[in-house]
Amino acid sequence: MSQSLTGAGRVAGVVGAPVRHSLSPLIHNAWISAAGLDAAYVPFSPSETGFKALVEGFRGGAICGLNVTLPFKEEALALADAPSAAAQAAGAANLLLFNEDGRIVADNTDGAGLLAAFAQQAPGFDPAVAPVVILGAGGAARGAAAAFLAAGAPQVRILNRTVARAEAIAARLGDRVTALGLDQAEAAFAGAGAVINATSAGLSGEGVLDVPLAATPADCVVMDMVYKPLRTPFLVEAETEGRRIVDGLAMLIGQAVPSFTAFFGISPPSGVDVRALALKTLGLSERI
Ligand code: NDP
Repeated sequence: MSQSLTGAGRVAGVVGAPVRHSLSPLIHNAWISAAGLDAAYVPFSPSETGFKALVEGFRGGAICGLNVTLPFKEEALALADAPSAAAQAAGAANLLLFNEDGRIVADNTDGAGLLAAFAQQAPGFDPAVAPVVILGAGGAARGAAAAFLAAGAPQVRILNRTVARAEAIAARLGDRVTALGLDQAEAAFAGAGAVINATSAGLSGEGVLDVPLAATPADCVVMDMVYKPLRTPFLVEAETEGRRIVDGLAMLIGQAVPSFTAFFGISPPSGVDVRALALKTLGLSERI
């Protein structure tokens, strides 16, 4: 938040249920402060049935926009008048913008955040060169699949505990996407350029995924969307096998960058280490 917020200040926020643990207010307000903007970024936590009323109340521009997190991303897309191609492909929106003419624009920056995380932590990785394996078939997996397809991935292999959910995504995203069970991981890892954990397994160290990362090619990049702990058991195993790794915090910060620009019309200022701030708030260090 700006040190001297005025009545002309620009307001954006994040909406989720729960939203208490969201790092987005920390990240955006650090950038707002460093850029000296007359602005604030605030959390909203409606009841699970209160999301629509909250969004409709902002129609016309009472605030400039919202990031959207669980469980409202699909509903956000449904409420929008103008969804971007990325939001439509992902089947979900994590960003709503409230135009003064009353229209609500929806976008999805999670895919851009994912690719930015790869660019930052696995320099030289090219998403268009080799098949990508995505573990999981929830909203995050679908968004990741859509982003990698848009980036030119020759094939996306979606593996899920419940195979029918992977098949549903493949049916929507076209013939470059195949659906398999988690028990077919070893075969799916053959020739993969990247393996991404988009399941919630590993969150707070629970429900570790049992997949043979040793079967991935030596130059495969392994990514985990879970960022608490920062080094999940999945990433620790990948490192042990000598693979390059990408963590979920880089994706979280990566999706915040285009959101900030959409809200406030400028890129986030350099010179503020939001990753260090986030790690401190999470009680983590780079090695945990
Ligand atoms: P969903 O609840 O929609 O999907 C969860 C997925 O995890 C399902 O595919 C489910 O399989 C699978 N799953 C859960 N537990 C296990 C387990 N023990 N073993 C195997 N599979 C399991 O969640 P989302 O898609 O929205 O999010 C997935 C993860 O990605 C979450 O941890 C979320 O926090 C993270 N995320 C991180 C982001 C970031 O910026 N870093 C952005 C978005 C999400 P099944 O279908 O069989 O139930």
